Amino acid sequence: MDRPDDAPEKRLATPVRALRGVDPRAAELLPRIGLKTAADLVFNFPRDYLDLTDIRAIRDLEHGQMAGVVGAVEEIDHRLTSNGGSVTGVLIRDETDCLRAIWFNQGFMRDKFKPGQRVLVSGKVKREGLVWEMAHPKVRYLQEDQQPKGQIVPVYRLCEGLRQLDVRRAVKSALQLAHGLEEAFPADYLAKKRLLPIDQAIRLVHFPETQEQLADARRRFVYQELFVLQLALALRRQTQQESLAAEMPATALVDSRIRRLFPFELTAGQNAAIGEVAADMARPKPMNRLLQGDVGCGKTVVAVYAMLLAVAHGYQSALMAPTEVLAHQHAQTLRNLLAHSQVRLLELTGALTPRERQDAMAAIAAGQVDVVVGTQALIQEDVAFAKLGLVVIDEQHKFGVRQRATLKQAGMCPHYLVMTATPIPRSVTMTLFGDLDISFIRDLPPGRQKVNTYLTNDDLRARWWEFFRKKLTAGQQGYVITPRVEEHETLASAEQHFQELAAGELAGFRLGLLHGRMGPDEKDEQMECFRTGQTQVLVATTVVEVGVDVPRATLMAIEDGERFGLSQLHQLRGRISRGTEPGYCAVFCRPENDDARKRLEALASSTDGFELAEVDFELRGPGDLLGTRQHGLARLRIADLTRDQELLKLARADAQQLVAEDPHLARTEHALLKAQLLRRYGKTLDLGDVG
Ligand code: ADP
Ligand code: MG
Repeated sequence: MDRPDDAPEKRLATPVRALRGVDPRAAELLPRIGLKTAADLVFNFPRDYLDLTDIRAIRDLEHGQMAGVVGAVEEIDHRLTSNGGSVTGVLIRDETDCLRAIWFNQGFMRDKFKPGQRVLVSGKVKREGLVWEMAHPKVRYLQEDQQPKGQIVPVYRLCEGLRQLDVRRAVKSALQLAHGLEEAFPADYLAKKRLLPIDQAIRLVHFPETQEQLADARRRFVYQELFVLQLALALRRQTQQESLAAEMPATALVDSRIRRLFPFELTAGQNAAIGEVAADMARPKPMNRLLQGDVGCGKTVVAVYAMLLAVAHGYQSALMAPTEVLAHQHAQTLRNLLAHSQVRLLELTGALTPRERQDAMAAIAAGQVDVVVGTQALIQEDVAFAKLGLVVIDEQHKFGVRQRATLKQAGMCPHYLVMTATPIPRSVTMTLFGDLDISFIRDLPPGRQKVNTYLTNDDLRARWWEFFRKKLTAGQQGYVITPRVEEHETLASAEQHFQELAAGELAGFRLGLLHGRMGPDEKDEQMECFRTGQTQVLVATTVVEVGVDVPRATLMAIEDGERFGLSQLHQLRGRISRGTEPGYCAVFCRPENDDARKRLEALASSTDGFELAEVDFELRGPGDLLGTRQHGLARLRIADLTRDQELLKLARADAQQLVAEDPHLARTEHALLKAQLLRRYGKTLDLGDVG
């Protein structure tokens, strides 16, 4: 038996099977979703809530409002739609009227209802003609005579065999042990920020009685989660500011020598970004800068400037790209620019033989190479630079990489420049790149033509290909993009499209094929053929998504457009706005749901990548960008960056202020916060030496 004066950590270490009211079956299942102890249960925040405080008679419903309805299932129907999807409808009746609950593409819902069964459904109400409708409502099954109380019920993640009821019971039981929890915030801080104390908040976040209580409880934990992350980022920034880097001022001479290399006038945006980069590099502290700009705005120029600035000061630069295709393209660009200079360039590719690679390493280590270009994987592995002064990471999609880019370098830190592939939403920037300074390029090089985007379907295929052929004959080039396919799917692959087009609509034209499973050599060859115009059409998966730059390519057909994200489509389309001819992009699509349709409509109606990034984020939520695999940071447990943007800004400002006041969080009142952030982010953010 636990004594009442036992420490809360000890109480909360109680395994779920030892909790009162948890039956053996549930105790068996809970650990499968990571809920092993009382502490796990208590900090397993609900993924949603069922608001039963507004249960209404169907007659009293209002269009567009959230509400709950109690009734009996009258009828269940299920039909297939023309585009291969399905609609499941469940008619529910109460004493006053009836309501139809519907689900799209969730055929299994059909089996979850029986006529006569009493249910509570809640969700957003719509008046569709003469009937009330609720799309994808939350459902609670009721006993014969059960009258749901006006309460707010938590909804948890489950696994096969586990019921909401099981988790709710277990959480209730665990909460009995959760008093005297560790409060990370000093008491006066809680008061100042109007945050609920943890003991109170932890109860209300699971079992609130009103929406206000729920909002307050949630606010406390969301704030805490975002604050701790921002604190970690601020601390990381602080430590970086304390390390040393070589000063590389851009003298007038160096500046003019570098600028002379570019065959065009730089845009105002490029000049401004270069100014910021040069100012950073002139200081004895490492630059940590993120460069954001829309597809085609000319970020590479800024990278080249920075690299040559480092070289001018006798340092080496490394440029890392996400794919070999792109790395190779960068190497080509640099080779052209540097044709008449002394700068020694080396391209690290996966195609090098072990012997060649060994020689390359030796040259880098001996300082016989000034600029190294390759993929992140290739450069990071085990390359020891003689005198690394700058690292540029291009087209940063995989956010974690930056953290792990521990390039071997004794003493001084290199300067860092990170470039994104397309603009990313503000709140994501703050979260994932919260420790970096940011430069924006908001203009495009002059004379850029707009891409005309058409959303279309099979009916117009023949006409599109006719247009496509006409343009090809006139000397232009085009891409045909197909989604990457998983093996179990039935969608046509790039190969199949290639065969079909070669034998059909594009017979007689020179076609190339590029997909992810090809070896680096083969990819290179295909890219090169397309670049030089030997092939007129490149049938490809999204490997061309980032960066690829072929000015004569003005045509693009995207198949199965609904399967791509908005930023991804925008990035793809960016491939055909490179030259001075207008681009034409046909997106073939069968949007299956509202979000897909909105995404595609946004694509057709805007060409502003900054705007599209926000729309995409609104529609898809942070999941895709903040998916655990894509970046090194732990998944957010309660904060939702689409919803909690205001709180994010507040947490960020507060964290920065705290670090300004107590740069190493050395004060005793900050000890718990510090311990928490080290536990959570110490490893991924490399904060080891802070603790
Ligand atoms: P992104 O920002 O998408 O990486 P790139 O750096 O690949 O864009 O540049 C896109 C194209 O625009 C390239 O062909 C590049 O040569 C060209 N470009 C870049 N800056 C300018 C400029 N100031 N004037 C004209 N063309 C430019
Ligand atoms: Mg680029």
